[in-house]
Amino acid sequence: MCGIVGYIGYKSAPEVAIKSLKRLEYRGYDSSGITVNCNGDLFTQKKIGKISALESVLDYEKIKNCKIAIAHTRWATHGEPADRNAHPHTDCNNDLALVHNGIIENYKDIKEVLINHGHVFKSETDTEVIVHLIEHHCKDMSLMDAVFKSLNSVEGAYAIVVISKKHPDMLIAARKGSPMILGIGEGEMMIASDVSAIIEHTKDVIYLGEGEVVEVRKESYKI
Ligand code: GLU
Repeated sequence: MCGIVGYIGYKSAPEVAIKSLKRLEYRGYDSSGITVNCNGDLFTQKKIGKISALESVLDYEKIKNCKIAIAHTRWATHGEPADRNAHPHTDCNNDLALVHNGIIENYKDIKEVLINHGHVFKSETDTEVIVHLIEHHCKDMSLMDAVFKSLNSVEGAYAIVVISKKHPDMLIAARKGSPMILGIGEGEMMIASDVSAIIEHTKDVIYLGEGEVVEVRKESYKI
């Protein structure tokens, strides 16, 4: 299990996210990636290799003013190390993106059902089923309810963060069996899988409990 960072606030989200992700490099990883909500659209970039490889392809000029981002370093468990298997993973319409640490044990069954419903998968990961499942449930309910419903049907361990095109002011994070920490700042919030990613920004942290889900806005949060 590798690294997760989420940021929402007033600073350059990609700069904070990449810098914080580098604090998790010591854990080892095979690829990295980032999604930002940029002028109402989700922009994702992923790259095999070091975070510096991701930075070399990242269009900083285009995204540097974005104030919300999720980023990930991956240690492959399902699907070889490759750009397409790196996180974040997106849904069919690029409305949602998600990072995940852990293993979804029943991903094959869920994937089969979702393919039968017309979902198109772009990776071989276990992770990708979660974002398509949330997309699937979003047709009938709010994003938060869709996250809840999706997590009720996955088996295994996860720490996830979801970013949505339609909710540029909010991140949703959840954990079960994998660590997740919320860092509370002034006018900014961070989420990370390891406190060392957050500590530079705030010492006010909450360790999410087993099975907890949190809605994070720049000045508030709701567990
Ligand atoms: N099981 C996921 C994958 O293979 C997540 C791996 C991780 O925790 O980095 O992509």
